Amino acid sequence: MSNKWVYTFGNGAAEGRADMRNLLGGKGANLAEMNLVGLPVPAGFTVTTEVCTYYYDNNQTYPADLMEQVEAGIKHIENIMGKKFADMDNPLLVSVRSGARVSMPGMMDTVLNLGLNDETVKALAKSSNNERFAYDSYRRFIMMFSDVVLGADIDLFEHTLEKMKEDKGYKVDTELTADDLKELVEQFKEIGVKIGKVFPQDPWEQLKLGIGAVFGSWMSKKAITYRKINNIPGDWGTAVNVQAMVFGNSGDDSATGVCFSRDPATGENKYYGEYLINAQGEDVVAGIRTPQPMSKDDSGRVSLEESMPEVYKDLCDVREKLEKHYKDMQDMEFTIEHGKLWMLQCRNGKRTAAAAVRMAVEMVDEGLLTKEEAILRVGADQLNHLLHPMLDPKADKKVIATGLPASPGAAVGQAVFNAEDAEKWASEGKKVMLIRVETSPEDIAGMNAAQGVITARGGMTSHAAVVARGMGTPCVSGSPDIKIDYESKTLKTTSGAVIHEGDWVSIDGARGEIIEGAVPTVSVEMTGNFGTLMKWVDEIKTLTVKANAETPKDAKQAREFGAEGIGLARTEHMFFDPSRIQDMREMILADDVEGRRAALAKLLPYQKADFVELFKIMDGLPVTIRLIDPPLHEFLPHTEEDIAALAAHIGKSVEFVKQRSEALKEQNPMLGHRGCRLAITYPEICEMQTRAILSAALECKNAGVIVHPEIEVPLVGSKKEVDIVKAVIDATAESLFAETGARVDYTVGSMIELPRAALLANEIAESCEFFEFGTNDLTQTTLGMSRDDTGKILDEYRARGVYVADPFASVDQLGVGLLIKDAVAKARATKGDKIHLGVCGEHGGDPDSIEFFHKCGFNSVSCSPFRVPIARLAAAQAAVKFPRN
Ligand code: PEP
Ligand code: MG
Repeated sequence: MSNKWVYTFGNGAAEGRADMRNLLGGKGANLAEMNLVGLPVPAGFTVTTEVCTYYYDNNQTYPADLMEQVEAGIKHIENIMGKKFADMDNPLLVSVRSGARVSMPGMMDTVLNLGLNDETVKALAKSSNNERFAYDSYRRFIMMFSDVVLGADIDLFEHTLEKMKEDKGYKVDTELTADDLKELVEQFKEIGVKIGKVFPQDPWEQLKLGIGAVFGSWMSKKAITYRKINNIPGDWGTAVNVQAMVFGNSGDDSATGVCFSRDPATGENKYYGEYLINAQGEDVVAGIRTPQPMSKDDSGRVSLEESMPEVYKDLCDVREKLEKHYKDMQDMEFTIEHGKLWMLQCRNGKRTAAAAVRMAVEMVDEGLLTKEEAILRVGADQLNHLLHPMLDPKADKKVIATGLPASPGAAVGQAVFNAEDAEKWASEGKKVMLIRVETSPEDIAGMNAAQGVITARGGMTSHAAVVARGMGTPCVSGSPDIKIDYESKTLKTTSGAVIHEGDWVSIDGARGEIIEGAVPTVSVEMTGNFGTLMKWVDEIKTLTVKANAETPKDAKQAREFGAEGIGLARTEHMFFDPSRIQDMREMILADDVEGRRAALAKLLPYQKADFVELFKIMDGLPVTIRLIDPPLHEFLPHTEEDIAALAAHIGKSVEFVKQRSEALKEQNPMLGHRGCRLAITYPEICEMQTRAILSAALECKNAGVIVHPEIEVPLVGSKKEVDIVKAVIDATAESLFAETGARVDYTVGSMIELPRAALLANEIAESCEFFEFGTNDLTQTTLGMSRDDTGKILDEYRARGVYVADPFASVDQLGVGLLIKDAVAKARATKGDKIHLGVCGEHGGDPDSIEFFHKCGFNSVSCSPFRVPIARLAAAQAAVKFPRN
């Protein structure tokens, strides 16, 4: 049995359908569907993606029966269009275009006007009664075929064209006469002979080579790179669409255009697009002539609505039919040939985040979509662009350097070159931009005070990038174009720009741009359509979405963004404040219990006050507070100056500080004396923190605030560890309650962030009322790679064909998903629904991971405040796709 390699369409019939995009590619499937919808589409056929796969599996050869089917396809076109391929009287010309499953704009090849040669061009001139048009088409064909199929240097042709215009004193191509174009064709042919790339006169040979060139372009360097960036598998292949040419360049009653059924920038329900009279598609894209608007406006340019009212009406019908049919905004290409409309392409149009939200909501109002469908229409990650202020798109910008788009959003501030200055200037009410070679944990407060952060070094997973994203602070990291000199407090770019301390700088964190001066920003609206969409989201989702937050600022932001509690308050972050760090350091350096207790007593009021704030902001909602987690030496000073200041603060010698710091050093601190191990070896730390949490809860409760404190033990690897720490927590609670004569409910649970904890989840669950999966540590400890290292070696590995987890890839793809699924099953086997299961690592804000957590049966996810709306939307999308019973 022979395979079907070719699917025809035309005249209101088609062998394919919209849902056959895997086989026919996006363009082929939609060309078929447009026929079925009854739209005017030039007849054609699609060579399937399977031929592309065959071509590459078989040494770049075609299936034996392919050309037979192609010939039948051409016959099909001839019958419908009433023209004949390679005919000397009324020749059929075709376009040969690529079309993969997903659009890869500009990545693959196209040949237009195929079928022209020295004889058919004369026939075309005669049949069209337009010699100029025929030779214009011919010279375009020779250029394109030589470039795309034969690999000739296109510049040779362009120069020849430009030179002729210059010699004749013409400004634009349309001034070239028929005789000029004839001469140009001769010159083009001479170039072909000179460089040994002569195009074949036989139209069938042209067709075969044209199809081969499109398949060949699937493996072009730029297509491969594009696929890599966009995660498109190489074995999908492309289809090839062969379609009768219709000519927008056949006179002033002809035109070509591109349009959207709604405004792709704002989402407004109005016909949006551009057209050019007497032109072919590439003229619109190339931007040589200024296109005119589709609908009447005040631009002063003549709209299609005015110049061709009949065709405009037809296009309005098309727009309505397609929107009703696809229930989505369409991006369309059309050609008008002697006053007749032909549709060449339609697809779901790309749109900005704001447009996506507006269209989704309005389409529900219009009865086109259900709420569930509307929710699926907005990309969860796309929302990110809506949550941060943007640089005013209308403002002038002088981009002086670019780096990685590490944290989205726009920021404008005065340059400062260290974290202390950032804090100081900010406390004086200034807006600052923190500029560092790279950042470290000590810079946190400065980063928090800054509008934005620029670093010369570091990748998308560097400290600056991760922390900035967590804070919602825009950041451009790893810019190779800049040199930072701390001494002179200057940033110099390779292009010669210099930024001094105090100079205004702007960044666009979503594009990775560093811009001179203060560019005006426009802020986002949380109300209106966005508010409506998010209301539906909350009705539909089943996962609770909480936030990772410990500062009042973040907690407030989280609530504004709809967080349903705090899933992780990292208490150690509360000690980085300059007014507290010295007491923290004193506690760490103490060489006995008494010393530690004395220092802890100083820290207790700070912690308590922080928790009071959090409970108040989260009135009525759960707040999970984690006991101190990181290795203690992370808090210690490094510079001589800081060491001396600390020694003075605690009344000890510099030598003492240095010796104790040295003694605390560990071979591998990330896996050393940290997490619950601190609470086990120094129970007094746990006692202080428990006291701070519960006395804050009692105080708030007395004041009428509804509190749900949850105390969390980090980095556990066994039930025994939880039991030891829980005993300290419970004993401290009981003595506090006895002292105050009041009680407050609290729960105790643990982080699951080591593979061992996941494997022993059934046992650990016995001692816990909740689990929070710490996917940051779990990913790193499962893969055996730190976050930063993963980022650095990622590309190296991928280049060698090894799939290595991106720390921001969905956990489902990491293999970490296996551990998580297993741990969830184990925890549920022990406790059923009596244990609350949440996720609070970065994956808690990652849409793909959220879908996975939803399917696993988690109760909640928690993420940084700025990702809360994204997580809510992703949770609702997961609930629509995978309903829980
Ligand atoms: C985690 O490990 O995922 C986690 C939330 O803890 P941290 O990021 O503070 O280590
Ligand atoms: Mg952790």
